[in-house]
Amino acid sequence: MSEIAPHTKSDTASVIEGNASPEAAKLGDKIRCDACPVMCYVKPGMTGACDRYANIDGRIVRTDPHLLLDRTLTAGGAVVPFGNAAAWDGTLIDPERHFVTAIGAGTTYPDYKPAPFIVSAKIDGTDMVTIVTEGIFSYCGVKVKIDTDRHLGNETSMVRAKGEAVGHVTTGEYGSQMLSLGGVHHLTGGSKKEGRVTCETLLDLCNGKPVELTVDEGASVTVQAGQPPIVNGATEERMRVGCGSATIGMFAKQWFGKVDEVVVVDDHITGVLSEHQAGRYLGATDTGIRIKGRRSTPGRYFQVAAPGTGWGGTDITDPLTILEPFDPKRARPGLTMLMVSTTGEQFGFYRLDDTLHPIEEELPDELRVSVERIKENCEPALCSVLFMGGAGGSLRAGVTDNPVRLTRSVKDALTRVTCGGAPAYIWPGGGITMMVDVTRVPENGFGYVPTPALVAPIEFTMRLEDYAALGGHLDRVQKIETLARADETSGGEIVMAGRHAVAPHDDNPWPTGTVR
Ligand code: SF4
Repeated sequence: MSEIAPHTKSDTASVIEGNASPEAAKLGDKIRCDACPVMCYVKPGMTGACDRYANIDGRIVRTDPHLLLDRTLTAGGAVVPFGNAAAWDGTLIDPERHFVTAIGAGTTYPDYKPAPFIVSAKIDGTDMVTIVTEGIFSYCGVKVKIDTDRHLGNETSMVRAKGEAVGHVTTGEYGSQMLSLGGVHHLTGGSKKEGRVTCETLLDLCNGKPVELTVDEGASVTVQAGQPPIVNGATEERMRVGCGSATIGMFAKQWFGKVDEVVVVDDHITGVLSEHQAGRYLGATDTGIRIKGRRSTPGRYFQVAAPGTGWGGTDITDPLTILEPFDPKRARPGLTMLMVSTTGEQFGFYRLDDTLHPIEEELPDELRVSVERIKENCEPALCSVLFMGGAGGSLRAGVTDNPVRLTRSVKDALTRVTCGGAPAYIWPGGGITMMVDVTRVPENGFGYVPTPALVAPIEFTMRLEDYAALGGHLDRVQKIETLARADETSGGEIVMAGRHAVAPHDDNPWPTGTVR
């Protein structure tokens, strides 16, 4: 447990109903927090095991302020920093202007108790309701997309943080390597340390912090949502323009007539201009080039080398190693050849000597332009982190007495799911399995509990009449306008550390669906 930071004590603390049974709530001067199954007894002035709740003046306080989105504020950038939140001044909350997020709202446990806030608002003449809670996700993980051609490790290889297995390498996609981290088997199915490190890794990634990962028999990579990956200590700058074949297709016209042959070296599909459909279409003639690897279709070769961190995601540093000797019947001395990687970062220009050996020469200016054009067309390499969690379990009971109706309502698109105001993609099939781009969630919107599990904000917004139809906790609905006076409410046991307003993310649609 750690000392609570002075700023977390609020002048405008608001009270929500707590869950502790009065007879079990205290142990000497310690108070029991029952916002999760850990049930910490928290000493005065200290926080519980997750740092989300503290004992202040004999009451359990949610230490982070409750966040509202205020559409009249502008973020001045895509990311919404938590630290830029403006303390709520106590004025009435305007339903057209504000959205109540689940960040800092607290969790009710066990789940049959209603969610911490169920607020109604008239939006464009329609009575709407938003149910918010900080959900505890034992069944969650992140999907990571790393824009790099460099070989991070073989598919299914273990990914580790601090030496613990936290996930695995999945597929290589178009210029990106995908990782799957977390999930119930790492969170709860391994050793205690594995679960703790997995939870810490997921939390840092979801809150936009850098995480150092290593792949068994592969690379080390620093991953931070929205930032370039750092592979084996080198910052990746560019995501490749396309595979080798696509690169030939894109730039064939700019090469034709200026060089006899072009080879775009790529671990996935290496392209060869003279054989490729694009070259043939332009009238390129046979050069006698012979490429190692497996020919897929004309001008497209697989497995020209082993995967690695060299040219085009292969292990080579000298591109000539992927060539067999030129065919003497078709090649000729003086023939010119450009070899280039899919990002344009590596290139070489060659001319065949009298023995048909390629000899490197300086790249002519007219070809330099095309290499620069490849680089120009590469997008910045980034890491993308999507939080993925199943909300189809018991937290639904905080919304309705009949949980499956919430699932059906989400599937029928009557209920919108957001995560700190960010749009959530809901997977087809059973349950409410959501996926969210963590960079669209206000900073530090995620938390954890040491069960171990991640705590993620989740809001369900629907029409009030639909909420009634699905068996919602109508007796707990309060008008959004009354929330600003919540600090005047008394009788509860869990206290909130005030309210703050932040700008919504520039790219997020307004969560209640009205035009911004
Ligand atoms: S871990 Fe956090 S939420 Fe759980 S009981 Fe302890 S203080 Fe409360």
